[in-house]
Amino acid sequence: MLVDVLVLGGGAAGLFCAATAGARGRSVLVLEHNARVGQKIAISGGGRCNFTNIHAAPENYLCAQPDFPKSALARYTPADFVALVEKHGVRYHEKKLGQLFCDGSSREIIALLTHECADVGAQVFTDCKVQAVEAVNHDNTARFLVRTNRGVFHARSLVVATGGLSFPKLGASDLAYRLARQFGLRVTRLRAGLVPLTFAGDTLALCQELSGVALPCVVRAAGEKSGPAFRENLLFTHRGISGPAVLQISSYLPDHVAGSALICDLLPDASPDAEPWLRAARGRDAQLANFLAERLPARFAVAFAGAAAARPLRRFSDAELAALARRLRAWTLRPSGTEGYPKAEVTLGGVDTRELSSKTLEARTVPGLHFIGECVDVTGQLGGYNFQWAWASAHAAGEAV
Ligand SMILES: Cc1cc2nc3c(=O)[nH]c(=O)nc-3n(C[C@H](O)[C@H](O)[C@H](O)COP(=O)(O)OP(=O)(O)OC[C@H]3O[C@@H](n4cnc5c(N)ncnc54)[C@H](O)[C@@H]3O)c2cc1C
Repeated sequence: MLVDVLVLGGGAAGLFCAATAGARGRSVLVLEHNARVGQKIAISGGGRCNFTNIHAAPENYLCAQPDFPKSALARYTPADFVALVEKHGVRYHEKKLGQLFCDGSSREIIALLTHECADVGAQVFTDCKVQAVEAVNHDNTARFLVRTNRGVFHARSLVVATGGLSFPKLGASDLAYRLARQFGLRVTRLRAGLVPLTFAGDTLALCQELSGVALPCVVRAAGEKSGPAFRENLLFTHRGISGPAVLQISSYLPDHVAGSALICDLLPDASPDAEPWLRAARGRDAQLANFLAERLPARFAVAFAGAAAARPLRRFSDAELAALARRLRAWTLRPSGTEGYPKAEVTLGGVDTRELSSKTLEARTVPGLHFIGECVDVTGQLGGYNFQWAWASAHAAGEAV
């Protein structure tokens, strides 16, 4: 079978690229190894798919070449995808911080994508296992040959959209990275991103004791190049910490998470100096834990105060209050690791962007070969940014193939 465009992977980027190329009159076939397309879309956003973020900008992405995502993001914007969502009558709302979610179910986004493909005649083969990919030269009609359990396919353009390594139980594979290397393209270091952090020893015991408690705070990575700070909830779990603030900061910790540190400001709404607040309370005869519980979750306040929980504030010296104030503004946690790909929302790193055109996502040295979506070294922050990269990179390639 010969097609203009063969897309490997029927996820967010692959389906949208197929629809975009099909709308330009290209014959398109998507090969998906799962029994169903869009499995990650289905579970995303807690089943309601946070399909974009209205504030998406290049600054919301991690990439070794920070300018790389600019072109694709500028040419297919959140407003463009919102217009498509509205065309399909999918109802949505902004939850917070520009994050747009379906009112109903993520399945509506999958239906939108499959309808867009069907409308332009882009075909999708599921249960299709890719066995080998070869470069060929058939009178310029085909440049690639793909062997699968469902036959041999020839195509003039090959778009690799098989995603990253996170959530292997949903069919994640390393095919994109293997193909990149097969064609001589570099792949950057890969690691789990947007992932819960784990702890050992006393901190693990503390996390287990507080499991289920959510703590609003501002979190940043320790160190000179600490990157952005995130004001969100931190959630204690049986293995460590999770929640939006932690998932966000996990992507900014050094490669070897063990040995790194994150700093939590537990009083994000207080004036810069917490000390006057503590000193002023000395006259009230309150115990430390009870007093802290006015601003912190009660269970956390008791654990944070530790042996001093029942000590009245009036019995704290100035130096002790100063130390307490510093600890409240910069509570430091040292994770021992992460929960890894099984729990990570994304894979950090990917096909090296120096190998690709930022306009078309085509490999500079292999005409007709494109990489899009999560398999590229472009990783968004939490909050709809990753789907926006999937749409934008898919659109850029779909317009070029
Ligand atoms: C639990 C969870 C929740 C998330 N929630 C959000 C959210 O709300 N908002 C957001 O922006 N991002 C979210 N993400 C991230 C988002 O899902 C991904 O960034 C996005 O799906 C990437 O799109 P993609 O098309 O590159 O990859 P995918 O959507 O993963 O698609 C890749 C496709 O390729 C297929 N495939 C893989 N290997 C092969 C192979 N060898 N042969 C054939 N097919 C193959 C896969 O089965 C899959 O269908 C979430 C991720 C997870 C894990």
